[in-house]
Amino acid sequence: MGCLLLVKLRDNQLTLLPPDSIYLAYAISIQGGAMQRNYTGFGPRSTHTPQTEPIPGKMMVANNAGGFSFTVDDMARFKRFLILGSSGGTYYIGERKLTKENLDVLERLLKAGRSKEVIDTIVEISDAGRAVSNNPALFALARCCASDVSRSAYDVLPKVARTGTHLLHFMAFVKQFRGRGRTHRRAIKNWYNERGAESLAYQLLKYQSRDGWSQRDILRLGRPHPSDESHSALYRWATKGWDAAPDTVPAEESMKLIWAAEKAKRAVDPAEVATLITQYKLPREAVPTTYLNYRVVWEALLADMPMEAMLRNLGTMTKNDVLKPMGSFTHLVVERLCNQDAIHKARLHPIKILAALTAYQSGHGVRGSSSWMPLREIVDALNAAFYLSFANVVPSGKRLLLGLDTSGSMMGQVNGIPGLACHAASAAMALVTAKSEPHYHIIGVDTAIRHLNISPTQHLDDVVRILMAHRGGGTNLALPIEYAMQHSLEVDAFVIYTDSESWAGRLYHPVQALNEYRRRTGIAARMINVQMTATQVTNNDPDDGLAMEVIGFDTTAPSVISAFASGEM
Ligand code: CA
Repeated sequence: MGCLLLVKLRDNQLTLLPPDSIYLAYAISIQGGAMQRNYTGFGPRSTHTPQTEPIPGKMMVANNAGGFSFTVDDMARFKRFLILGSSGGTYYIGERKLTKENLDVLERLLKAGRSKEVIDTIVEISDAGRAVSNNPALFALARCCASDVSRSAYDVLPKVARTGTHLLHFMAFVKQFRGRGRTHRRAIKNWYNERGAESLAYQLLKYQSRDGWSQRDILRLGRPHPSDESHSALYRWATKGWDAAPDTVPAEESMKLIWAAEKAKRAVDPAEVATLITQYKLPREAVPTTYLNYRVVWEALLADMPMEAMLRNLGTMTKNDVLKPMGSFTHLVVERLCNQDAIHKARLHPIKILAALTAYQSGHGVRGSSSWMPLREIVDALNAAFYLSFANVVPSGKRLLLGLDTSGSMMGQVNGIPGLACHAASAAMALVTAKSEPHYHIIGVDTAIRHLNISPTQHLDDVVRILMAHRGGGTNLALPIEYAMQHSLEVDAFVIYTDSESWAGRLYHPVQALNEYRRRTGIAARMINVQMTATQVTNNDPDDGLAMEVIGFDTTAPSVISAFASGEM
């Protein structure tokens, strides 16, 4: 049997097969038919097509880089948009165009009668905190609110617009799509009335205005009929304010917070402000700016500071000596950052933690006006928090080749996070998988294989620095597979972190290289395309049952990758 397999027809000529084919024949013969059912690669040598041409007989489209790629369906693309967003655009497409393209996708889905699925998906992704930002979910919901399913869209408003700032963003999006009808007014009225008075007081104080909208505008426009006396007092305060702060503390719990904020406005020294913060749990937004330079004020704020606010203010608190080497407040912050439950409850997204880590480690603010000496304890804790913020990963135990697209287009910024490039963030994502898996190898890929020499034992900010120093060129995403063939690597799953804009391969499309790899090695290798931009392209053949799409910055991405690699999905 081995002899027969040594020859095959190629271009109508008898050709000797390379020695690895003998190994393949052996592998197939001992493993039987199960393998053939699983994958499509076994058979004649794969065809070769340059990436600048579509594969004959396959549905492919021209990508943004001048190559041809497969596409994902509209629902998959919509999920990419919800998780990755479009702010900042991509290396190739401006923000407006990318947003417009994604809006078209949403409109096609609504037109196709898939509104229930669309709304359920918005709620699911937003509520679980899987997206880098909640804005795409608010944007998509605002569009649904302007469609003929507006009632069911408005029904889920409190689940997607969970805070005052979400509501303000939502109002700005709604305005883009149309005027505000009766369903809208009722939903907004319910948003305010159905929230407990104490919680509402906090939201009104903390998020007074965003995106050209203020709570005062909304309340003046909507004139919600207050559900009770506490709400009535709050609406009065939000629309008209107070002329003076009475000396006596109001009896009503919800009004105590408002009273304390009004007192803080008229305070005479930082100690008084700090006492008000401690006694009434005032948020930072209720503290007059002049008092934000005092250590005692920040120490008071830190006691009840929400996780995301804490993340944003680490630099300021270090500058003000609230956070200092071996300090008790430093210890408090470290404990919070290492508390997985608290991280998940606060929906603290790993990319926001990574951005906070690189910003903090840089030692200066975005505008460069303030600077601090980064503390080792805080950097360590942020590093730990990044890993804790993902859903728990069950290792697959498989052999994984993790390929990071290091081409020029991946140098573009992560949506909504200035200063953090896509390839650096994808390296961090890859390290989450690397940290949990026993067998993996990480390479960079553009027009050649790059030996990045990164591992989860390094600090993430070092890894980001290594990647940021890398200047990538063109893109050939068939290379990781060719590399595995050249070096006879046994790979159970290729995991490629990319924007899927491959064009520079003259020999193979990635799927052709993959089929060739499967044919030569006899390994039913799986392919996981980890998509880092909200476009429609992919390197995966939709007909390949052993290929899967994952959305890059999804908090569930590492657990989905390991489940698929292990063969559970
Ligand atoms: Ca590229």
